[in-house]
Amino acid sequence: MRIGDERREALRHRVEYWRRRLNVRLRRVRVQQMTRKWGSCSTSGTVTLAADLEDQDKGFQDFVIVHELLHLRVPNHGRLYKALMTAHVPDWKRHEVRKQAG
Ligand SMILES: [Zn+2]
Repeated sequence: MRIGDERREALRHRVEYWRRRLNVRLRRVRVQQMTRKWGSCSTSGTVTLAADLEDQDKGFQDFVIVHELLHLRVPNHGRLYKALMTAHVPDWKRHEVRKQAG
């Protein structure tokens, strides 16, 4: 296995870990080149993650993954959303500056 494949695999494992932990309905995960965002989420249950995320540290990966997966439950960035973010990724505000909100 190439190093890139292992990283992709690790990222997908992380998504699976959080999917179970957050108990959300996730239909599909795509990892692809994204120019302006780290991730996005569609109403049909598809989460897309930027391929570049593979090279980021685990804390930031978790932040982006949880950000997108929580949108499967809460479609906005309101109070409930922020409360869930704080519950699962207590230091999420630290990461927020690095991310273009998606
Ligand atoms: Zn968002």
